[in-house]
Amino acid sequence: MASTPMRDSADARVGGLSYLAPQTAEPWASFIEQIERVRPYLGPLERWIETLKHPKRTLIVDVPIVRDDGTVAHYEGYRVQHSLSRGPGKGGIRFHPAVTLNEVMALAGWMTIKNAAVGLPFGGAKGGIRIDPATVSKGELQRITRRFTSEIGVIIGPDRDIPAPDVGTNALTMAVMMDTFSMNRGGTATGVVTGKPIALGGSLGRHEATGRGVFITAREAARHLHVPVEGARVVVQGFGNVGGIAARLFHEAGARVIAIADHAATLLNEVGIDIPAALAHVAAEGSLAGFPGAAPIDIEDFWQLPCDFLVPAALEGQLTAERAAGVRARLVVEGANGPTTPAADDILRDRGVMVVPDVLANAGGVTVSYFEWVQDFSSFFWTEDEINDRLERIMVNAFNAIWRVAEEHQVSLRTAAFIIACHRVLEARAERGLYP
Ligand code: NAD
Repeated sequence: MASTPMRDSADARVGGLSYLAPQTAEPWASFIEQIERVRPYLGPLERWIETLKHPKRTLIVDVPIVRDDGTVAHYEGYRVQHSLSRGPGKGGIRFHPAVTLNEVMALAGWMTIKNAAVGLPFGGAKGGIRIDPATVSKGELQRITRRFTSEIGVIIGPDRDIPAPDVGTNALTMAVMMDTFSMNRGGTATGVVTGKPIALGGSLGRHEATGRGVFITAREAARHLHVPVEGARVVVQGFGNVGGIAARLFHEAGARVIAIADHAATLLNEVGIDIPAALAHVAAEGSLAGFPGAAPIDIEDFWQLPCDFLVPAALEGQLTAERAAGVRARLVVEGANGPTTPAADDILRDRGVMVVPDVLANAGGVTVSYFEWVQDFSSFFWTEDEINDRLERIMVNAFNAIWRVAEEHQVSLRTAAFIIACHRVLEARAERGLYP
């Protein structure tokens, strides 16, 4: 961990709230800029806008473990509750070497907006540990997860803040978190996390939900633009939970996924990639490297491929202004959180490329997480068809509401989603009043 920057925690301790100072080109600055764009549309609720620029609660935790070789290692972890105005916090846990407080704050803010834009009764939260999970053993990772859960256990809970998987974490991570929280409380609190294995109160359909939501919103946007999905050219960056499943659903709908990329390879096949074969390769080999069904291309060429749908589904900040200038897609559908910088967003708008924003496009995961939480509370579980039907209904309704606001104010789908979400959050804020 010696090479990882400690700047965020140091900033947070110097001068009280100095960590709130936006650092240009960093995710929190992007979030603040997106909030500012909504100011003219808030009416009397503008009085409360600063609420959205101040995360409600920010916890930085030290996560020490004894490594397998007997040495002691320390990792830095975070849980940020950006807003609890509309309900308990909700948002994923990321294990990644580039995790910073600034990033977690932005991701928590986007969760506030996402949950409100789709109409889920949650606030927004996010957490993470700055770690490369590939550098520790399974036993070490489990100890890290348990210690982290205990440390953030003071602020999470089924009615307080409910984590879920994100980059670098999965259903098994959630099982360990649920077990640790339950052990500390002396019971079994299945509703403390979502995205759990089915045997522990997980929901059918959760694993596929985010990719499914990406596909549903892409299809709805394409319908408005009269772009048929069948035969469409699709480019997907990130081939994990979100990108891999979105690619599979496009493939099943008769689209041609011509290019895919992960951290290890960027691949093109103009005829269309055999997505099930690529998924099987990743399952067996751990990455797309060496996949024989497509040819390697330069990452900068990848962003400029002529296509109907460009789906960034890896990490934030990937679609920069320089890349946006060369994009030749009809639609950008944001599977990842914050993949498009605000400057790139403006360039895409000016060039007539429609962007289906993350807070809408990838809201399928948290929507089925909401279903999971409801099912855990009632201890009554739904069929996969019921879940997918309800997901479809919620995503299509949210898409249509956001489309209408975009038309009414002549703004982008992102600004429209933020307008709807900020109204909902700030209305709740105003009605609750300011304590004390
Ligand atoms: P994942 O870990 O399953 O997959 C991430 C993918 O991105 C992997 O294929 C990885 O190789 C690739 N990747 C990482 N760095 C890359 C790089 N520099 N260039 C190209 N590819 C790279 O994660 P995920 O769950 O699919 O999440 C992806 C994005 O979607 C994240 O922004 C996450 O916050 C967001 N998201 C996930 C969910 C969910 O339910 N999983 C829900 C909403 C949003």
